[in-house]
Order: sequence, then C-alpha cells, then structure tokens
Amino acid sequence: MPETKYKKTEDFNEWYNEIVELADLCDKRYPIKGMNVWRPHGWKLMNHIDKLIRYEMEKTNHQEVNFPLLIPESLFKKEEEHIEGFGSEVYWITHAGINELEERWLLRPTSETAMYPIFSLWIRSHADLPLKTYQIVNTFRYETKQTRAFIRVREIHFFEAHTCHTDFEDAERQIEEDKGIAERLFKKLCLPYIFSKRPEWDKFAGAHYTISIDVLMPSGRTLQLGSIHQYRDNFSKPYEISYETEDGKHTFCHQTTYGMSERILGALIGIHGDNKGLIMPPEVAPLQVVIIPIIFKGKEKKVIDACDKLCKKLIDNNIRAEVDKREITPGNKYYDWELKGVPIRIEIGPRDIEKKQIMLVRRDTGDKKPVLQDSSVQTIKDEFIKISDNLYTKAKKLLDENIHRVNTIDEAKDKKGIIELPWCNNEKCALEIENVLDGNTLGEPITDNMKNKKYTCPLCGKTAVTWMRYAKTY
Ligand SMILES: [Zn+2]
Repeated sequence: MPETKYKKTEDFNEWYNEIVELADLCDKRYPIKGMNVWRPHGWKLMNHIDKLIRYEMEKTNHQEVNFPLLIPESLFKKEEEHIEGFGSEVYWITHAGINELEERWLLRPTSETAMYPIFSLWIRSHADLPLKTYQIVNTFRYETKQTRAFIRVREIHFFEAHTCHTDFEDAERQIEEDKGIAERLFKKLCLPYIFSKRPEWDKFAGAHYTISIDVLMPSGRTLQLGSIHQYRDNFSKPYEISYETEDGKHTFCHQTTYGMSERILGALIGIHGDNKGLIMPPEVAPLQVVIIPIIFKGKEKKVIDACDKLCKKLIDNNIRAEVDKREITPGNKYYDWELKGVPIRIEIGPRDIEKKQIMLVRRDTGDKKPVLQDSSVQTIKDEFIKISDNLYTKAKKLLDENIHRVNTIDEAKDKKGIIELPWCNNEKCALEIENVLDGNTLGEPITDNMKNKKYTCPLCGKTAVTWMRYAKTY
C-alpha cells in the first residue's frame, strides 16, 4: 500500500499538512489564509464532534442560542481589559454599501460583548438564574502568525458556553461541572489532557482566572483545546447584568465561560493518526464500518447481497456503515478508507459467504480476523471499545512520558514536552525561564500543590509556592 510522502515520526508538521488534504478534510487553496474550506469528510467529522458537545450541554441543562456575528464598537468597548486583549485581533466593518457607518461594527472574536447587553435584559430576578447558554458559531480573529489547518486559523469554528449565576460560589460550581464535561468529552475522543491554571498575565482578557485544557502533540508541542473562565462580576458590572435578590436588593451576577474549537479535530488528527492517514475514534468517525465486497466473476450478486444485508443489520443496530461499491480495486478502497481513518473495515468474498463469516480489519492495529456473521454486531461493538481503549492508552503514554517534574533549569533543558519547575509566584522568574527554555508558561496544575514540602524557585532561590508548567506550544 502506498503511504504518505512525509512520515509522522520523522516530520510531524509536514505529515500533518499533507494528511489534512489527502484525507479530504479541507482545501487550503482559498485566497484568504486561515479561512478554511471544509470538505465533506472534514465537515462531517466536525459535526460529529459538535454532536458530542451538544449532548453534554443538553445533559447539563444548557440552552443553545445563536447571536449575531456583528458587534457595535460601543458595546465592544465596555470592558477595558477585554478590548486591550482583543483590540489588535478584530476585523472592522466600516462601510455598508457605499455609505460609511456612523459607528464601526466588528466581527465577533468571541461573543461576550454581543451577548451580555442582552443578558442584562433577560435577567431580572434570582428566579432567572442560573442562566446557562451556549452556541456553536464562527468567530474571527486576525492571526498574524503562520496559519495551520484546524490549529491556527482566522475564522474559528467556535463553541462558547456563557453562564450567569447568583454569586461566586455558584459560578465555581459551574466550573466544576465544566471540568466534568471535559472529562467525559475527551474520554470519548480518546484524548488525555491536562488542566492548568493560567498565570495572571496570560489569562483570558477580562477573566478573574482561566483554566486551560491542553493536550500534547507528537511533535512535543502542546495544543490548547479549550479553556474555562471564571469572570466573577468583571463583565456583569460594565454590562449591567444584575438581579433582584429575595429581599429586594440589586446584585451583579457572577459569570463563567467555556470555549473550544476545531482544534479538537487538529488533536485527533495529530495524536491518533499514522503514516497511512487518520485514525478516528469510533465515537466521532462519520463512517464507523466500511464494507468492501471482494468480487469474483460470476459471484458478483451473491457478494453484493451479503454486503448489503450486513450493512442493513449494522445500521439497524446504530452503527454507521456503508458498502463501498465503486468500481476500483479492493486495494485502492483500503487505501482510501485508511486515509480517512474509518475504524473498522469488513471484507466479504465468496469464501466468507460459504463459511458464514466476514473478515474484520482494525484500522488502529491492522489486525485481521474472521468473525461469524451471526455475532458480527456484538463483535464490532466490542472492537469499538478495544479501539478506543488502545487509542487512549497510546496517547496517555505519550503524555505521561513527556511530563517532566524537575527542580533545576539544567535538568529541564534537554527535556521534550511539558516541564514542571517550582515557582516563587514572581512573573519575572517565569518569563525568564520561558526565555531560557524557549517555551511558554502553561500555568500551574490545578490539583497538585506543594503542601508540606519545600521547594525553591530555580531562578531566584526563594521559596516556591507552586509548580509551573512550561512547554513549546502551537
Ligand atoms: Zn523566583
């Protein structure tokens, strides 16, 4: 079988760039860089990821909304830190037809400033709280660095949840719920991740604090897949989102947000794929089983009928299946579906029909085995679990082997992946270590602290208060 020109293990970045087009995910020829043309297979995959997100949102009583793309400048400018953070990244609309607008509009880089003036109208009393909403829309950020499909883009396929609460504690409860959503979602995607609390200087513009969700790519760089933000009342004050308490007082809401994007797809490609192409976790594979008829002269009808019959049985059992009847060789079909990452391939030829069996081939391991027709549904479902476990275990191994907790900068220097060093809580020290390691601060672990143990900051020698993570990032 032909393989990709670039090998994942030798040149990860070039392999990634090649595979996103070969596997029919996107077309990079659009004349504005970073604005993705989603091809059918890529769009289907993204829709399946969105479906898992929607499932989690509905289960936790979030309501889906859809706000306008355009935001008036005056609304955008109400929260100072937010403008400072996003000011240089927004696209402005200055004209409508031939007329210059009296007030400029911008394309949403994120939707706080579109939603919150309306939230202030929706929320009147404590009975309206909590307000839990989300939307999946495109957002725009003017990216000046080199763009990369699904990883660094200017038009972002964006999931954003926005919630309003009576007080800080209730908003904190929301953050706990958000962490649970991440756990369930990323398990289905077979993506192990780490939560880090971003340092003050690197939190979301306007947030009280930010927790990031990062994965480790095989290149040794981390990729941020999402973030959870506690806003406290930083936005509700300028946007006047307040409510009347039971005893008649007016109080500002506390808010949280949760953001994710098509970077999830980027992580699936990069972490699970191999030299033959994508390997999609069964949960999100648009096609979970492809059935290939092995045709011999004179037996065509018999073989096609057997394939159709199995396909129907799988679909009836909620398995996404298809028979590939194209008039090309089976070898070319294998190549094609391996590129696209279909988790299971079934081959059926005249001999299999005689033996009342099918041949089952796993995409992740290449293992091939005969399965009795009668037990095909259960076996395929069992194999889905095995494939998911295998993908997760491999990715977890990569992550675990590349988190290095060390005490000195010298020990950190030759390590690849994520470095954890003791930190004194002084911004200058962290920024200097970033320089020396040629990486970025990811933030502190959210569960692990230094209780009862004494470490010193490797730079200034003062007592450390936490671990700080550094990594090369996308
Ligand atoms: Zn220090």
